[in-house]
Amino acid sequence: MSTGQETCAVLGCPMIGSFGVSGSWYCVCHFRADASAWNAITAVLMQHRNIVDQAVHARRTLAGYHAIKAPEDMLIDLTHEVGKQYGLEAAQ
Ligand SMILES: [Zn+2]
Repeated sequence: MSTGQETCAVLGCPMIGSFGVSGSWYCVCHFRADASAWNAITAVLMQHRNIVDQAVHARRTLAGYHAIKAPEDMLIDLTHEVGKQYGLEAAQ
């Protein structure tokens, strides 16, 4: 764990924290989500652990923009639906 890349600040989240907020680091999926959806999002991530592993591996190995973005975009799509059921439900 000396890569300088910390795990997402959300308890149990396997992703790398990429976005700093008030001294904590959050992954792409938790960064924009309402806190009420965090646990549900983590559960979705764990269901798609193979994609998470791709995303984490790409970041740890500095695989490049596209290698990182492809799996993260998939995870953002997967967790977006869950997030909508929480904080954004009334938005559309
Ligand atoms: Zn996370």
